[in-house]
Amino acid sequence: MDSLDILIVGAGIGGLSAAIALRRKGHAVTLIERDPQWSVYGVGIIQQANVVRAMQQLGVLDAFLDAACGFDAVEIFIPDGTKIARIPAPRLVEGKPANVGIGRPALQKVLADTAQTLGAIVRLGLTVATLDDDGARVDVGFSDGSAGSYDVVIGADGVYSQLRGMILPEAEQPQYTGQAVWRYNLPRPAGHDALQVFNGPTGVGLVPMSKDLMYMFVTTSEPGNPLYPRDGLAAAMRGKLANCAPFIRQLGEQITDDAGVVYRPLEEVLVTGAWSRGRIGLLGDAVHATTPHLGQGAGMAVEDAIVLAEELERNDGVESALAAYRERRFARCAYIVRASLAICHGQLGIGPAVDNHRATGEMFAVVSQPI
Ligand SMILES: Cc1cc2nc3c(=O)[nH]c(=O)nc-3n(C[C@H](O)[C@H](O)[C@H](O)COP(=O)(O)OP(=O)(O)OC[C@H]3O[C@@H](n4cnc5c(N)ncnc54)[C@H](O)[C@@H]3O)c2cc1C
Repeated sequence: MDSLDILIVGAGIGGLSAAIALRRKGHAVTLIERDPQWSVYGVGIIQQANVVRAMQQLGVLDAFLDAACGFDAVEIFIPDGTKIARIPAPRLVEGKPANVGIGRPALQKVLADTAQTLGAIVRLGLTVATLDDDGARVDVGFSDGSAGSYDVVIGADGVYSQLRGMILPEAEQPQYTGQAVWRYNLPRPAGHDALQVFNGPTGVGLVPMSKDLMYMFVTTSEPGNPLYPRDGLAAAMRGKLANCAPFIRQLGEQITDDAGVVYRPLEEVLVTGAWSRGRIGLLGDAVHATTPHLGQGAGMAVEDAIVLAEELERNDGVESALAAYRERRFARCAYIVRASLAICHGQLGIGPAVDNHRATGEMFAVVSQPI
């Protein structure tokens, strides 16, 4: 099918990737985003080899790599700070780095600039009020009182997806896992050329994300999902490093700005049934929000976008295209959610401990397969 009118709800990584992939296939795309500021928090994100490949498929690889910091290995450390392994990551694009770290605002800028240059219309501060799929078109009423009519509507509206609630009210709901992640940007030391993972009761990672910057992530057990006031967040994050290797505690002394700390409870959801109803489909965290233990949540959303665009091109009908898209994506996304959750449960002591080294190698093997 060509030249469909498509509405995408949610202009995060998944929605923007879908806008790019669908515009490149010649569809008319409108993106709506609830947040009037379209804000993105300032720490970074790991994008692994499959995402580098996906960025090439989206036609944004050069801009993406220019904004990112490439690296080719994951280094594993034990709690006393000794390095026990350097796992090479597979390169999936000839001559380009295997993995990258990139600031989330920088990634959003690359994707948003490309989507808009390609002609996607972005409307901010807007959400969906009503949806009426009559089998031929979807009539949409927006929160500002305006209306539109589309061939396809895609919900890329995140883990608490409004659209999932509207079309699949019986689907699985997000669950809090018992863990949270603290993140903070730090100067990147010379020679730091890998994702460094420090195992132990408190998991810590250091991710290069630009020439001068890296970010630290700290994964902690947070029973009862406590609320941490913004005032004092930096001291609270430093306190979480008390039992870590001396090198990490020393780095932690630089965590001083409450506003620079990004704290997120970890939630997960995997929709095991259909990912669509009629002409309305879902992608990204709306159907498979994972904990970040394998660093693949956004990667799965980007891949979803490419496969969705391919299936809309390949199939004669919207409903069969949405079903084919879900068929191609489910196994890989379910693997990422379940394997990540197994690591989380092992760390919490509510499941068998998972060997990070082995799990990372297995994940690379899975995501290296073509999408
Ligand atoms: C602590 C942490 C660390 C992570 N680290 C990594 C990592 O290193 N690598 C990785 O690949 N992934 C990582 N992830 C996962 C990654 O952030 C998500 O998988 C990814 O952001 C999902 O993209 P999305 O577009 O589906 O959803 P989102 O990023 O949630 O975007 C949804 C967008 O929709 C908008 N929206 C929501 N509701 C509505 C509505 N009703 N109407 C209109 N707009 C709406 C939101 O404002 C938002 O802009 C991490 C996640 C966490 C929590």
